[in-house]
Amino acid sequence: MSTAGVHIVAYPYPTASHIIPLLDLTQRLLTRGLTVTVLVTPNNLSLLDPYLSSHPSSLNHLVLPAPDTSSSITPPPLKRHIANMRALRDLHYPILLQWFQSHSSPTVAILSDFFLGWTHHLACELGVPRIVFSPAGAFGMSVVFSLIRDLPKNDDPDIDVNFLVSLPRIPNSPVYPWWQVPRLYRNSKEGDPDWDFYRNNMLANTGSWGFVFNSFTELERVYFEHLKRELGNDRVWAVGPVLPPEEGDLEEQTNRGGASSVPCYEVMTWLDSHPANSVVYVCFGSRIVLTSKQMDVLTAALELSGVSFILCDGHDDHGVIPDGFEDRVDGRGLVIKGWAPQVTILRHRAVGAFLTHCGWNSVLEGIAAGVVILTWPMDTDQFTNSTLLVDQLGVGILVGEGDQNIPESTELARLLRISIVGGRPERVQAKKLSNAALAAINGGSSDQDLDEIVKLLADYKK
Ligand code: UDP
Repeated sequence: MSTAGVHIVAYPYPTASHIIPLLDLTQRLLTRGLTVTVLVTPNNLSLLDPYLSSHPSSLNHLVLPAPDTSSSITPPPLKRHIANMRALRDLHYPILLQWFQSHSSPTVAILSDFFLGWTHHLACELGVPRIVFSPAGAFGMSVVFSLIRDLPKNDDPDIDVNFLVSLPRIPNSPVYPWWQVPRLYRNSKEGDPDWDFYRNNMLANTGSWGFVFNSFTELERVYFEHLKRELGNDRVWAVGPVLPPEEGDLEEQTNRGGASSVPCYEVMTWLDSHPANSVVYVCFGSRIVLTSKQMDVLTAALELSGVSFILCDGHDDHGVIPDGFEDRVDGRGLVIKGWAPQVTILRHRAVGAFLTHCGWNSVLEGIAAGVVILTWPMDTDQFTNSTLLVDQLGVGILVGEGDQNIPESTELARLLRISIVGGRPERVQAKKLSNAALAAINGGSSDQDLDEIVKLLADYKK
């Protein structure tokens, strides 16, 4: 099969946790001989650097204007998210259509994030396939589609915080208390232009040519079977976990998604001095800001536990690390303020457990690294991801749930301690899942799914 001249456009949604996995997937497509143009906003341009060095001639980019949301009066985060999505959609005419029509190398397909559902219509106009990229897992996406289609109306008098939403069409019939349903859905109102835009944008995905998930079949088999029934058997592929290669350039790993705020070798040297599986890595992703109460409990627990840990604290508002904390844990606790080289840390043999908010990227990175996962989901699909880890895969230990279920610091300290104990069932299971994840991307199911997509695109080009 020749992939010469197969040019595709990769269009990530411009936030860290959506760009990171789509760039990693782009890297895999480049190594299979495709030419890829990445559509990127100016502030994210530097994220391409690590990939450009290894594929200077087949990786191109088009810099799009940053979303202009100035017309909306400082909106709360969810409104801002919708305003961003709308501003990106406004690039359809004329900027993107003209670019595609005039580009010297015709595009064979558009691979774009699920938040860019409108690119389905763009692809239809251009007469090319559009592949949806899902940075969320199959279970998470099954829940999203189900909520979008069948969400109880929120002016229903029966709905209070304790109302249970059941989704019986999804395998294992998940049930959620109302407060765990993402806020965007809870606040939705028929006829609200923002909700209608969001809903139509997400539903447009279901009409697209194919769906690519950053996940692997063995991890979420029943949910992939469900999605194949819902979306079409030959339209759903699992190609993850799409991580930077282990043997690859350390800089590529270290500055993935952002420039590390600490020299990576310092962190590695610190980790080198610790026994295998003895360190807990704590990080709540790129967006979550802990409340003061959550931060106080967390830091008190880390102090009480006596465990060695790395705490990544990317935000200096809301919950702040208490005065004197770093001195009190000196020698066994490393605090990284800003962007941490997460994948490199998780891959170190000294790290045995990961306390996370269960963002899907973090979940996959933890699974691939074979660490025990302490789950404290906060928002969106994180409750679903935590259920998968704790109740279905047996690699997770639930420690908290958002603001509704903040653990006592003594209890959290106990869980931190047991997470690094050898021989626990979660550790055995974590090792098995790590092997399965690495097998999937080294010739196994994920590699085969990706090969199949590449072959279809090469045939499509002929
Ligand atoms: N990440 C990182 N360093 C940090 C914080 C986050 O490298 O200091 C990366 C992390 O490895 C993951 C992504 O940012 O790839 C976060 O995505 P996730 O889906 O876990 O959570 P979100 O940021 O969407 O809440």
